[in-house]
Amino acid sequence: MSSPIAEGKVVGIYYTLKNDAGEVLDTNRKGGKPLAYLHGAGNILPGLERALLGKVKNDDVEVHLEAADAYGEVNPEAVRQVPRASFPAHAEIVPGMRFTGQDASGRQVPVAVQSIEGDQVTVDHNHPLAGQRLHFSVTVVGVRDAKDEERQHGHPHGPGGHAH
Ligand code: ZN
Repeated sequence: MSSPIAEGKVVGIYYTLKNDAGEVLDTNRKGGKPLAYLHGAGNILPGLERALLGKVKNDDVEVHLEAADAYGEVNPEAVRQVPRASFPAHAEIVPGMRFTGQDASGRQVPVAVQSIEGDQVTVDHNHPLAGQRLHFSVTVVGVRDAKDEERQHGHPHGPGGHAH
């Protein structure tokens, strides 16, 4: 007797994420623990959450998300030039390096260095997966009711969830 995935359930999943070319971008199947998320709390991509609604333990689910439903289209305005002086003087800045920056609303976002010309550094604030269609293969390995504390926190605790 297994209960279907719905709002307020803690769900354990194994997943493999591939891009259009079939390259594996991320997976927790290789010896990893299942990822635990709280359904309806925005812990995972909304499109993925929608596809998992109503599924039960042991279900295999293939989910294909357009870029707009995943990490969004590439925004040309998110590519900007910043002065070299805004980086630590001793830090080596090279194209392709990634670090964590802040967007206009103060959220932490991954930033990639595109190029360096003189004292100007071109950085890309787009998510690394922006503009990409994503393909998830998910196996549901557990569905349980969330505890009150988990609902309040908006995330699961215990194995695969938050430890704090
Ligand atoms: Zn918590």
